[in-house]
Amino acid sequence: MNLDRLGWNHSFAKNFASYQGQGYLAARVALEHKNAYILYSEVGELSAKITGKLRYRASGLQDFPAVGDWVVISTHDEKTATIHRVLPRKSKFSRKMAGAETEEQVVATNVDTVFLVSGLDGDFNLRRIERYLVMTWDSGANPVIILNKADLCEDVEQQIWDVEEIAPLVPIVTLSAISNQGLDALTDYLQPGQTVALLGSSGVGKSTIANQLIGTSVQKVQTVRQGDDRGRHTTTNRQLLPLPSGAMLIDTPGMREIQIWAGDEGLQDAFGDIETLARRCHFRDCQHDREPGCAVRQALADGTLHKKRFSSYQKLQKELHYLSVRQDKKAALVEKEKWKQIHKAIRNHYKFKGQ
Ligand code: GDP
Ligand code: ZN
Repeated sequence: MNLDRLGWNHSFAKNFASYQGQGYLAARVALEHKNAYILYSEVGELSAKITGKLRYRASGLQDFPAVGDWVVISTHDEKTATIHRVLPRKSKFSRKMAGAETEEQVVATNVDTVFLVSGLDGDFNLRRIERYLVMTWDSGANPVIILNKADLCEDVEQQIWDVEEIAPLVPIVTLSAISNQGLDALTDYLQPGQTVALLGSSGVGKSTIANQLIGTSVQKVQTVRQGDDRGRHTTTNRQLLPLPSGAMLIDTPGMREIQIWAGDEGLQDAFGDIETLARRCHFRDCQHDREPGCAVRQALADGTLHKKRFSSYQKLQKELHYLSVRQDKKAALVEKEKWKQIHKAIRNHYKFKGQ
């Protein structure tokens, strides 16, 4: 396997430089299972474990290798290796599990482009698209909005228009994945070395799109291998999948579960611990800046709240505020437009009467 094809680039190479020439190799995590890992590397597929040092130094779940990570390894033989370090991540998706101590479980890393999938049927929901957008920006990946099931929609133009209103700079692609219509528009994001992932609620067509991207060649391989259980198993359980286009697709159960906390309850729930803290601030409208009696600053000071997590929360607040201002503006525009139409209708009415 070629590293470039697996998504290797200058920034990973730079971080690997100090390990170069010391017997170490770089590899990418394709699967994690009970602290054992399957890696893709120049020397092929390897099964690996982490060093005791990495485990000891980890301050939480987020420091362990996750699917999509580039790791520094040493090999024992053709099949096994040891993971020494996780190279800095270019992007990451995590589930934040609120508890006494907030645990962050990383579900996918080093994703370049996220396809945010919605169904143009009953599922269509702008608020949900906004939440997925915020989440994607927060991860460091670039979003592309996919409106699937175009075959079930009477007025695709109107839906595109609505989405453009909330996300003017984000590419929008309409598809009918079930009949393989419109997938060509994804070509730009599927170049060799690019890593993509699918995000969206259950039933919008993520598996259908994934299957179309993986293509018939892989499906054929799986059918051929059906007699051989071991073969089939190894092809189906990788979560970092090479696509025929040369790109890589990340498909992990965690990524699929993200929808649970991006549901209608709102993304705010992901930061429930901070909201709880904020309720203990002296002032109700505390900005957690310099106000006396601020429980959030207190938690930051004594380390119970991580700085980085707080800054993600602030970023999210800003995005949500921006979006809500946009929403208000949009509502005002719609209202203005409505009155314009009414005035026009009245004018026309009198014009006709006058004739
Ligand atoms: P997932 O839960 O997001 O992975 O969604 P699936 O890929 O399992 O699709 C859910 C259902 O929608 C399945 O019955 C698919 O056959 C159907 N589906 C997927 N794409 C399309 C499409 O473009 N048009 C129509 N009409 N149905 C689709
Ligand atoms: Zn405060």
